[in-house]
Amino acid sequence: MIILGFESSCDETGVAAVCTERGLLAHALHSQIAMHREYGGVVPELASRDHIRRVLPLTTEVLQKANLSFDDIGAVAYTAGPGLAGALLVGASVAQSFAWARGLPAIAIHHLEGHLLSPLLASPRPQFPFIALLVSGGHTQLMRVNAVGDYELLGETLDDAAGEAFDKTAKLLGLDYPGGPELSRLAQTGNSAGYDLPRPKLHSHDLDFSFSGLKTAVLTRLRQLEREPGGLTPQQRADLAAATEAAIVDVLAAKAIKALKQTGLSRLVVAGGVGANRRLREKLSQALAARHGQVFFPPLDLCTDNGAMIAFAGALRVKAGLVDLSDTGHAFTVKPRWDLQDVCRPGVHP
Ligand code: ATP
Ligand code: MG
Ligand code: FE
Repeated sequence: MIILGFESSCDETGVAAVCTERGLLAHALHSQIAMHREYGGVVPELASRDHIRRVLPLTTEVLQKANLSFDDIGAVAYTAGPGLAGALLVGASVAQSFAWARGLPAIAIHHLEGHLLSPLLASPRPQFPFIALLVSGGHTQLMRVNAVGDYELLGETLDDAAGEAFDKTAKLLGLDYPGGPELSRLAQTGNSAGYDLPRPKLHSHDLDFSFSGLKTAVLTRLRQLEREPGGLTPQQRADLAAATEAAIVDVLAAKAIKALKQTGLSRLVVAGGVGANRRLREKLSQALAARHGQVFFPPLDLCTDNGAMIAFAGALRVKAGLVDLSDTGHAFTVKPRWDLQDVCRPGVHP
């Protein structure tokens, strides 16, 4: 069966076609980053309007790339939450209208389930069960993933997400939105040992994170350096970027390893935008090699938001028998706030 998937939860419009047997057939993506950059962050109303402009041309592009016609589509999947309400409504209404017009089932997908399962789009493909480190712009969570629809939350951030920590410190350093990739680029020319930044909760016994103190520490350092004669030098700025990246990566890696130790599992899967970070990839690859474990990342272009992971999550749910394909009712709602536990199989981790 071919699933047509739509993602519009934030500032990327993504459309994709995934076959339950053959995997990803085609995907197309439009990022609104350039549009939001001058405001230093995502403007919800502009995001919704742009999703409306992009979604149909992207759909045509996907069908053309995969050489498909509307008749080939067996079901539709869309991000129903969490995310920006207006933005979510665009993907949800297009998906539901399409499904209604063709008499097809429409599958509401949890955005984080999309991120979580996206490393399964790569090869080699991780076997269940595994530990997932989900590090995106809005979430930082460690999960035990036993099967599709069987997710157990082990720990999460108590305040800022890792991506948010990257973005906020990058902003302090005068870098463009979204700061994660920019900060990471600047860090390559810096010395991470130049400044000793805190690694919050590094040695705590739980699997939770806390990143808000880091940004305050960076701000304090920055103000000190700016007050010195001559002000902040480019090298100091690069060193601060490198030290920030090292602090975030150290905590993420340490907690991911702790989760593996606690559960006795040997496979780690990293998902979400911060999973594109080179230092994190290197550090985890080394740590897992030393433990004779395996680490899996999504393909680089599928780390941040995209339609492929949503269509793919739809396909996996169909294959796992979690979708009622006879349900072609089209009343729908979006869920700007939505707990991932709510999409678990009945009876799993209440
Ligand atoms: P959520 O999925 O929680 O709703 P989101 O969809 O906005 O949030 P993603 O698209 O998964 O999040 O990821 C975006 C985040 O990833 C941003 O915070 C961005 O700065 C960060 N990011 C992207 N590339 C890198 C990188 N190379 N290094 C560090 N951070 C990065
Ligand atoms: Mg985004
Ligand atoms: Fe996301």
